[in-house]
Amino acid sequence: EGAGFAAAAIAELHPQSGREQSGRENRRVRNYEPNKRVLVTGGAGFLGSHLIDRLLAQGHEVVCADNLFTGTRRNLEHLHLHPRFEFIRHDVTFPLYLEVDQIYNLACPASPIHYQHDPVQTTKTSVHGAINMLGLAKRLRCPILQASTSEVYGDPSVHPQVESYWGNVNPIGVRSCYDEGKRCAETLFFDYHRQHKLSIKVARIFNTYGPRMHPNDGRVVSNFIVQALNDEPITLYGDGSQTRSFCYGDDMITAFVALMATPPEFTGPVNLGNPTEFSIRQLAEKVIALTGSKSRIEYRPLPGDDPTQRQPDIALARAKLGWAPTVALDEGLKKTIAYFEAMLAGAAPSAATK
Ligand code: NAD
Ligand code: UDP
Repeated sequence: EGAGFAAAAIAELHPQSGREQSGRENRRVRNYEPNKRVLVTGGAGFLGSHLIDRLLAQGHEVVCADNLFTGTRRNLEHLHLHPRFEFIRHDVTFPLYLEVDQIYNLACPASPIHYQHDPVQTTKTSVHGAINMLGLAKRLRCPILQASTSEVYGDPSVHPQVESYWGNVNPIGVRSCYDEGKRCAETLFFDYHRQHKLSIKVARIFNTYGPRMHPNDGRVVSNFIVQALNDEPITLYGDGSQTRSFCYGDDMITAFVALMATPPEFTGPVNLGNPTEFSIRQLAEKVIALTGSKSRIEYRPLPGDDPTQRQPDIALARAKLGWAPTVALDEGLKKTIAYFEAMLAGAAPSAATK
């Protein structure tokens, strides 16, 4: 009788449960959870931890798989006792067996000094990581989103970059472990889509910044802010005329969630980023002005294969996701400066994450 009561309760909660169900619906019934269970790989990192906050706020259950290579527990410590959050220390180059409804695959070091630290592991993370996560999605028949990158365009000869541009990537340079790893991951995503009819979403992410970036990961926004706050020299590589277009983290998370919600036939690749372009020298000057720092600019050699210009064409994202960034660089920099100020002052970083 107990079992009968449980079945009736399930039928009431989940009217479809009496019928032939997909594995996904079954799993939800088993969990008594109307919301989705979502896997975020790389969830202890900058973007992943913000994505997890957003998904939890929407009522979902979240499993984070991260090997803590560049991510940190600090980014997730405010979720320590959250009833719908679970952390698994896991390297995506090894298979993972879980039951989830959606996968966001973000695991990969993103800053040049980190991905060049162990380039073979970087390629493995992108390629073996994609194979393992696609294999999981295939077994579960669930949608999977890939955090790809503007680096697939290399040093672009088409400007601004459109999704149809195939790129200009050096296959044997110091950035290749990252660029070619991400390109191969895109290939795998599209082959799983064609061969196994998997629902895929490929996001080509352009430079994104904000609270919870690693203070020492060498990316330009965090470097300049930390240097400025410490009144240390601002390390400008090359003559600073190279350009980037900077998107604030919150805007990017909105785009991730909107992309995952698109109909199954929309696969991307889709550019996500803020199309307002700045030279790196302009960025240095802005950071000095906004922090009121005494720092001076110090010129350093340009690293190998550093792209000279980068700006996303986001017409596709506007049309398919109804999305465009809302946070201007000055506004986002102010919030990011406040975060690093609190961190350098020894305050709990999670208190100042927005
Ligand atoms: P991040 O370094 O803060 O986060 C990456 C996370 O992946 C970290 O928590 C790290 O520990 C984890 N990770 C690395 N290797 C792993 C492995 N083998 N197994 C499991 N976990 C692993 O970087 P981010 O800026 O948050 O980037 C997130 C994703 O977005 C990355 O895939 C990156 O390539 C992509 N992306 C970011 C940007 C950007 O500007 N922030 C631009 C383009 C693409
Ligand atoms: N850069 C710089 N000083 C720094 C760090 C980076 O001038 O201390 C430059 C770097 O050479 C590149 C740009 O800033 O031209 C963006 O670098 P980042 O590593 O943030 O991202 P990516 O090159 O991957 O776009």
